Amino acid sequence: MNTSSDLDTGVRAALNELKLDPTQPLIISDADEVLLQFVAGLERYLDGQGLWLDLQTFALSGNIKHKETDEPVPVEKTPDLLAGFFKAEAGNLTAVDHAAEALDALSNRAQIIVLTNVPTAQRDARAESLARQGMSYPVIANKGLKGPAVSHIADAFTAPVFFLDDIPHNLKSVAESHEESRRLHFIADKRLAKLLPPSEHSHFHSSHWPDAQAFMEAELAAQGF
Ligand SMILES: [Mg+2]
Repeated sequence: MNTSSDLDTGVRAALNELKLDPTQPLIISDADEVLLQFVAGLERYLDGQGLWLDLQTFALSGNIKHKETDEPVPVEKTPDLLAGFFKAEAGNLTAVDHAAEALDALSNRAQIIVLTNVPTAQRDARAESLARQGMSYPVIANKGLKGPAVSHIADAFTAPVFFLDDIPHNLKSVAESHEESRRLHFIADKRLAKLLPPSEHSHFHSSHWPDAQAFMEAELAAQGF
């Protein structure tokens, strides 16, 4: 199923700027909770607001609570809170352990891009923060599910395409839009990883970059790259 038509106009324009070789492997990686420690950064930010994240389920809505009373912040306030977090912290999140080294090694054999649902206004701060931590790759600010963007880039590829994300909806969306992709369900935060079973739409599940690197290297070798 080709869902390219669902693609946001701005996202499509940014994707069209990429100079990619469809005959060479491609790694499309999410940022939050894959390359960057999203939950740890969010917890720091919430702490400064007198709030905390009660990690009972894989969701932010309903799990953000006031430190003094343990009252949850109303679900409808979550988008504003997250917007404030991204505005303040999009450039300040710490890299996930071993992510930079793994991508650096893989960059000898594959093209790498970052597909992140960071707000467009914070795209540059995010790209700079990744570059500062050893990950200088093109950063695309996506909107919504990621299948349409992946299909827009990857449909022309004859070489292997890998997709990494922590969110099951994105893995499912990419499975539906670009079935041939090899999908890694990666959740860096181990507390978060425990709250979710591996996505049925993924081929590999991990919280550890050296393992994800080994999986991709083995797949590349098996396909002659
Ligand atoms: Mg993410």
